[in-house]
This record gives sequence, structure tokens and C-alpha cells, in this order.
Amino acid sequence: MGGELEESLVELRQTFKSGRTRSASWRKNQLRALIKLIHDKEDNIFEALFQDLGKHPVESYRDEVGFIEKSATNALNCLEKWMAPTKSRLPLGFFPSKGEVISEPLGVVLVFGSWNFPITLGLDPVIGAIAAGNTVMLKASELTPKCASFLAETIPLYMDSNAIKVIVGGVDVGKQLLQQKWDKIFFTGSPRVGRMVMSAAAQHLTPVTLELGGKCPTIVDTLSSPSDIKTMVKRLISGKWGTCSGQACVGVDYILVEEKFAPTMIDLLKKTLKKLYGDSPIDSKYLCRIINKNHFERLHRLLEDPLVAASIIHGGSLDKEKLIIEPIILLNPPLDAEIMTEEIFGPLLPIITLNHIQESIEFINSRPKPLTIYAFTKDETFMRQIVSETSSGNVVFNDTFVHFVCDVLPFGGVGQSGFGRYHGMYSFEAFSHEKAIMQRSFIIDPDARYPPWNDFKLKF
Ligand code: NAD
Repeated sequence: MGGELEESLVELRQTFKSGRTRSASWRKNQLRALIKLIHDKEDNIFEALFQDLGKHPVESYRDEVGFIEKSATNALNCLEKWMAPTKSRLPLGFFPSKGEVISEPLGVVLVFGSWNFPITLGLDPVIGAIAAGNTVMLKASELTPKCASFLAETIPLYMDSNAIKVIVGGVDVGKQLLQQKWDKIFFTGSPRVGRMVMSAAAQHLTPVTLELGGKCPTIVDTLSSPSDIKTMVKRLISGKWGTCSGQACVGVDYILVEEKFAPTMIDLLKKTLKKLYGDSPIDSKYLCRIINKNHFERLHRLLEDPLVAASIIHGGSLDKEKLIIEPIILLNPPLDAEIMTEEIFGPLLPIITLNHIQESIEFINSRPKPLTIYAFTKDETFMRQIVSETSSGNVVFNDTFVHFVCDVLPFGGVGQSGFGRYHGMYSFEAFSHEKAIMQRSFIIDPDARYPPWNDFKLKF
């Protein structure tokens, strides 16, 4: 494997050196090829996602196939604009001079995909990398083998295989990749491995983008309109169980709600869950599987703490054979239990009640900075307070998850949820170096620039 990997890397470097990936036409051809791949192979992608995760085609289209198609089309349509140099008006003191900023590709880049959205989280950074004119190695996650082999087998059939390579493998392959020198590493995964990526990158001063995880808190203010409450509950369910069964970095992790409003919200949550997933959710076609036995057992262990188990107020069935966990709601589990200190990444939803919703700010601020804070509220003052008094990668009011699929907003974490940003134009920027160019004229060259110094030259 080592030799093969090094050979691939040499090939990527030679291709970059040849200069062909810099042209707009190469970039556009690759984006067109990717769009064609997605169109031609839609059914194969649905099948691979179903086999790896039990993902329903509607969810697969929304979060993966449709997402990538839209992202590649957007990059194709905006490419000329993104690539165009930006003229800078230089201050009078520089006259006569010209200034501009150009976007330069970084070179050979490494992308770590993730298993929860194996197509999207692999290919979306790749779109940014090729739009910016780089060559790229994508490490597909070993935990979704069908999707990983699909990417490894299909991409070379459509795209420039000397410039875009997919490698399949686990931790060992990850370690080998990190021993190499890259011009950029884009990593999606856990903060634990993120630290290793950053430390390996430091050896070569390689820039990194870290898309990490964490607990996304969801503040639910007391709402009065029954129709708003209904919409809020459906959106909560969608952001918890409707996105890969809660195995999502932007999934709702836990809810903060006022004690007096909790019973209304919980009652409707239970009724709506029943409506959407039926009387026996464990048999529902609309819930994804837990990715593997280890993660299933990890989630099971979170519930084994007797005080946590005692806080379950809805659901509780787990199917070890099928790796399905039905929606489980917990009311006020102990705050020092693992379910409240670690990212859940699964279909368990703790609800924490507060005397006053303002306490949610202190609650969030006393924990690591989240990737996303969700807040359902109509109170504009409270909205401003959440934005200005907390720190998170993103804030979404009155919905869940939708910001991830909106490519005009930057997406990325802060603090323990990572750093750097991508999506749309921000992906292009993530894989580019903004190079400042200044062109001077020979015409004006005052003596004041040169010694011997005197009082007149001091403030010239
Ligand atoms: P992980 O960190 O365990 O693995 C990520 C990748 O790193 C995999 O390809 C794996 O093979 C590789 N890897 C693991 N150990 C390694 C090592 N020692 N050296 C080199 N490579 C190694 O993450 P995961 O469990 O697969 O994914 C879940 C995490 O990812 C969660 O924390 C989640 O929140 C986060 N995530 C973040 C985003 C985002 O966009 N911010 C999206 C999806 C998932």
C-alpha cells in the first residue's frame, strides 16, 4: 500500500506541475464530468447508501445526490467569477501602481470524507478543490464500504484520473496519508483525530481545514401559536431523526426548554414521531441504521447508566441485529453523564428543562463551542442576545439542518468544532491562496526613500 500511495502522490504532483489543472476549461470539464456521473449513477448511489446506512432514497437525494449536483452546478456557473482577479485601488502614496488579488491553487490536496454523508462529505470538498485548480486525493471512509468502492471505481471512469484519486482504507491508510507532504488537508471527523491531523500537518506547515463535531444545542423558547409549535416540532424531528438517525455533525444533540413549556413540546413530539415513523419505528423504512456494531454499542452504553435509563420518557427499543435504535427521548438526564458530556451522534434526544430560557446562554457558554446552535424563538431581542453572547460555527433560528444545504453561507466550526469554512464560493477560497500582486512604475522615485536620513525625510 505504501508504495502505491506514494506513486499516486507522485502522479498527482506531476499533474499539478504540468499546469493543466489551472485552466478554467480543465476545471469546468471536471465539474461537468462529476455532474454527469451523478446523473448516470444516481440509482447506484441510492443503492450504496441504502446498503451502507439504510438511507431512504428521498433522504439520499436531499442530502447527497441532489446536494452534490447543485454544488457542482453552482461551481460551474460561478467559476469564471470566482477565478477573476480582484482589482485593488491602491492609496495615493503608491501612485503610480496597480494592485490586484488573484486566486492561486494550493497544489496537491488531501480530503478526508466522512461516513455519515459519504457522498456529500467526500465530494463537496473535492468540488472546491478542483474548482480552485488543485489535484486531489480523497480518502473515503472505511465505515461505508459500498459508497467508498463506488467512489473509487466510478470517479476514474468520468474524471481526470491523474488529477483526482480516491483511496479506500481505514486508520492505517489515514496514518500513511498523514505522513506525506500535502499542500492542504481538509478533514471531516472527530476532534480526537482532528488533533492528529493538525499535528501531522504542522511538520510540513500544511494548512488545514478541520470540520469537526460536538454537541449542537437547540433552544426552544415558549411559543404560543399552535401552528408554530407544530412546525417547530416537525423541524426538531427532522434535525434529530430525519438526518441519518441523528448521526450528523449538525444534528440536534439536546434541547433546552423552559419547564413550563416542556410538557406541551414533549406531548407533541411523541404524537408527531408516531405519525411520521408509525407505532413500531424500529420497522420504519425512514430511519437510517446505526453505522456499525461499535457505534451501536457506544449508544447502548450511554443508556446503561441507571440515572440516564430512569430519565427515558419515550422509546427505548434497540434492534442489535438490524442496528436500528428507535427514537428515544430523555428528560433531564444527569448533566455529568456521558450522554450530556459527549457528542451523541445517534437517535437519543435529551431534553433539559430550565426555569428561564435566558439560562440557555450560560448553559451553552459553559461547554465547548458548538458547530451549530439552533434556537426556536420569535423574540428578536433574544435572537440578538444568542448571536452576540454565544460562540458557535453557525446559528440557525427556527429550523434545523437547512443551513448545511445553503451554499451561499459559509459552513464551518469554531473552537472545538473546528476551523475553516466551505460551501459554494467559500470552498473555492478554502483551496486557494489569495496572492497579492503589486505592479510599480519606474517614473516616481523620491530621494526621501534612501539615506542619508535627515529631519525632512523622517516623516516624508
Ligand atoms: P474519525 O475522526 O474517527 O475518523 C475520520 C477519518 O479519520 C476516517 O477516515 C478514519 O479512517 C481516519 N482516522 C481515524 N483515526 C486515524 C488516525 N489515528 N490517523 C489517521 N487517520 C485516522 O471520525 P468519525 O467517527 O468517522 O466521524 C464522526 C465525527 O465526525 C463526529 O465527531 C462528527 O461530528 C464529525 N463530523 C463533522 C462534520 C462537519 O462537517 N463538521 C461532518 C460529519 C462528521
